[in-house]
Amino acid sequence: MQPFPIHTTTPVTYPGPQPATSDIVVIGGGIIGVCTALFLAREGHSVTLLEKGRIAAEQSSRNWGWIRQQGRDPDEMPIMAEAQALWRDLAGQTNVDIGLRQGGIAYLAQRPTQLAGYEDWLPHARANGADSRMMTAAEVSAMFPGLATPQIGALITPSDMRAEPWVAVPALAGIAAREGVQIIENCAVRCLDIAAGRVAGVITEQGRIASSQVVLAGGAWSALFLRNHGISIPQLSVRENVAATERLPEIYAGAVSDGRVAFRRREDGGYTL
Ligand SMILES: Cc1cc2nc3c(=O)[nH]c(=O)nc-3n(C[C@H](O)[C@H](O)[C@H](O)COP(=O)(O)OP(=O)(O)OC[C@H]3O[C@@H](n4cnc5c(N)ncnc54)[C@H](O)[C@@H]3O)c2cc1C
Repeated sequence: MQPFPIHTTTPVTYPGPQPATSDIVVIGGGIIGVCTALFLAREGHSVTLLEKGRIAAEQSSRNWGWIRQQGRDPDEMPIMAEAQALWRDLAGQTNVDIGLRQGGIAYLAQRPTQLAGYEDWLPHARANGADSRMMTAAEVSAMFPGLATPQIGALITPSDMRAEPWVAVPALAGIAAREGVQIIENCAVRCLDIAAGRVAGVITEQGRIASSQVVLAGGAWSALFLRNHGISIPQLSVRENVAATERLPEIYAGAVSDGRVAFRRREDGGYTL
């Protein structure tokens, strides 16, 4: 295994100082905060993005990196079509190779109920123009020779994409910074500044920023942050592990799940499990 590359000892890219005022403050430098800040800046707002650690040091650099249509709720399918287009656009707006590839995603099935569930979902794919299809057991064996557990079939979407999260999110932050977003790392927001019942700014480790609009994109910390202000959000804590292997021989260039374990081939030749 290898360590994830962004952590608390990673050098600070955006030290500040923070501005005294900002049209909009975004709390959290994960994928949600970075993209929110970028697109708000493109609408002409002055935007400050505050991150308590490093850009993408938390969940947004440690996920599988799938940009997935497969298995989505029908209401999400048009969003994913737009997401694919946005990822292609954004990849072209940075000179960093964010590892955007159309390598496909496959869900393997060991049980008939799994296979039936995948078949039930296929009409949603067809209705939304996705190229998802069922694979036979023989096709799965040919694609993944030497599987320890026999598979009875699979669902595959060849047009599904992936990107390298720990490269992509800092690259998008770079686009945002170039387009005027003031990013400050190592700067936790302690609380909202409330005046006369309205948001008047934020109090950070570096002081106060006056702002009438604040976007909270604090990931798993959001519920904790809002609890200080008497707001409860229905956020569920789920513990899942992600590991990064060293370089290994290629068994499949795309991404796969068998319902218990998922993996994605990374650009550096390792796998994210
Ligand atoms: C195992 C696993 C696999 C996944 N795989 C995929 C996948 O393949 N494809 C996909 O699209 N999604 C995937 N996801 C989901 C995806 O990782 C998350 O939806 C996404 O990273 C959430 O981004 P975020 O910006 O909301 O949160 P985060 O990345 O957690 O960012 C929140 C940021 O806010 C900062 N912050 C919090 N509080 C404060 C504060 N008070 N002041 C300043 N900063 C603060 C934190 O330090 C953090 O950097 C996966 C998730 C898991 C658990």
